[in-house]
Amino acid sequence: MRSNICIKCHKPLSDPKSVERGMGPVCARRESAKAEMESGVILLQDPFLKEGLVCKRIDGKLACNIPIEIHHHAEGVEIGYSGSGPADLALNVLNMIFPVEPGVETTPIFNGKVCSRMAWNLHQGFKWKYIAGMDENGGRVTIEDIYQWIEEQGVKIPEMHEKSA
Ligand SMILES: [Zn+2]
Repeated sequence: MRSNICIKCHKPLSDPKSVERGMGPVCARRESAKAEMESGVILLQDPFLKEGLVCKRIDGKLACNIPIEIHHHAEGVEIGYSGSGPADLALNVLNMIFPVEPGVETTPIFNGKVCSRMAWNLHQGFKWKYIAGMDENGGRVTIEDIYQWIEEQGVKIPEMHEKSA
């Protein structure tokens, strides 16, 4: 997503953080508000690569610190049981680590979108390990635990770059 102009409003970007996400701060805020409305999930600002997965329940609504960008099911993401909502949350977590990039094998999901083959292959296991048993009021999985679990699956962690919301 690196870009010297904002992909939304085409204004030039100079701040390194803005260049990295390809969007200025105003557009980034607007996009995260839009994503929140569309997914029904409140977006927390805890940085994923530092804090791992953070989930909370705020006024009955799920809040988490990763943008919900992809769905395989229509019901929205959730925690604390073994159904398709938790599977979709797992898929979005793994999408942070194994994003769709040029040269990456993909798997078609709901609504004509795709996710990386690796995120798809790992997401049910990740759901059972970390999401299904999470307290329905929230929980946290450290980034170290996430990396360790992925390596235990015999998968190499790709070189990571901060992906902004
Ligand atoms: Zn902009």
